[in-house]
Amino acid sequence: MRESRAGIRATRFKVSGTDQPNWIDSPKMAKQNRQTVSYLTRRFKEVGLNPNARHGQNFLIDLNLIELLAKSAQLTPDDVVLEIGTGTGSLTSLLAAQAARVITVEIDGHLYQMACEELEPFENITMLRQDALKNKNRFDSRVLEAIDEGVKAVDGGVLKLVANLPYNVATPIISNLLRCEIVPATMTVTIQKELADRILAAPNSKDYGALSVWIQSLCDVELIRVMSPGVFWPRPKVESAILHLEHRPDKRASIPDTEFFHQFVRSMFFHRRKFLRSVAISAFKNELTKPEVDQVLAEMELGPDARTEQLAVSQMQQLCELFRAAVKAKS
Ligand code: SAM
Repeated sequence: MRESRAGIRATRFKVSGTDQPNWIDSPKMAKQNRQTVSYLTRRFKEVGLNPNARHGQNFLIDLNLIELLAKSAQLTPDDVVLEIGTGTGSLTSLLAAQAARVITVEIDGHLYQMACEELEPFENITMLRQDALKNKNRFDSRVLEAIDEGVKAVDGGVLKLVANLPYNVATPIISNLLRCEIVPATMTVTIQKELADRILAAPNSKDYGALSVWIQSLCDVELIRVMSPGVFWPRPKVESAILHLEHRPDKRASIPDTEFFHQFVRSMFFHRRKFLRSVAISAFKNELTKPEVDQVLAEMELGPDARTEQLAVSQMQQLCELFRAAVKAKS
C-alpha cells in the first residue's frame, strides 16, 4: 500500500508471474471470485459484517449478468476503467483481466480490505478507499487525479466507467462525470430501473426531466437489460437495469457552453408544474427583464401556456442558446 502525492490511499498489486491473469481462464481467480450468495454470506460471516444499505450494498450475484455488464462495456487492452463501488472486488477482477488499468473506489473500509485480499494477484488495479464524490455536484479531486494519472500512464488510454453503482449516488456519479475534464467514452452501469427510465425518457412523459435532457444531449443511451431484484444480494425492493451510455463528442461540440446548458436545464425543470414563461422569468431574474424573456420565447414560438416538459432535447438546446445570447448581449 502506498500514499500517493495527492494523499490517495492506493494499492497497486503486483502479479507474481509474467502474464496478466485472465479471470475466466485462471482457476484460482474463477474460484475466488464467483460472487454467489453462498460466497458472499460466507465472506461476510468470516469478517462479522452485514451489507450496509446506507451505502447501496446490493451485490450482483448472477454470474452471467456480471459478465454481461463487463461484456457490454466492450473493453479493449487500451482502456482505463473507472469502477465506483469495488464491493468485494468481483467485477473489478473481471475488468482488470480485460483492460490496461482499473481505478476502483470503495467508501467502506471493511469491503476495501476484503477486496484487497481478492485482488492481490492483479498489478493493474488502483484502489481508492474513499467517497467518490466530494458532494452531490462534484467528484472528489483525488479520484479525478487518479483518473488523470491512469489515462496518462496508458498509451492511447481511453477512460470507461463500468460499475454496479451504489443506487443512492448513481445520478450524481453519471451526471457529474459528464462535466469532468476527462469524460468517459462509455458508461456501462447497473442502476435502478426507475433511474434508467428517467435517463431514457421522451418529452411529455412523467419521467422526462433535467437528467433526460442533460444526458441525451451528450450521449447515445441504450438499455441493455432489465433485472429483477432476485439477481442481487441482499434483494433490493425495486427492479434494476444495465444501461450503456456512449459519450458523443460531436453532440457536445454542438453545445457552445455546457456548464451554462447544465444550469439552464436544471433550472428549467426545477418547477415542473409551472409554465415555462414563469420558470424562465424566475431563472433569469437577475439578468433579463420580463419583456426580454418574452422576446426569447417568441423567437421559439413558445406561447404563454408552454411547459418545459413539452420541449424536445434539440428545442431545449436552441432555447438555451437564445437565452445565453440574450444574457451575453447585456453584459
Ligand atoms: N461492485 C460490487 C458488485 O458488483 O457487486 C458492489 C456494488 S454495490 C451495488 C455498491 C458499492 O459501492 C458498495 O460496495 C458500496 O460500499 C460502494 N459505495 C457506496 N457509496 C459509495 C461512494 N460514494 N463512493 C465509493 N463507493 C461507494
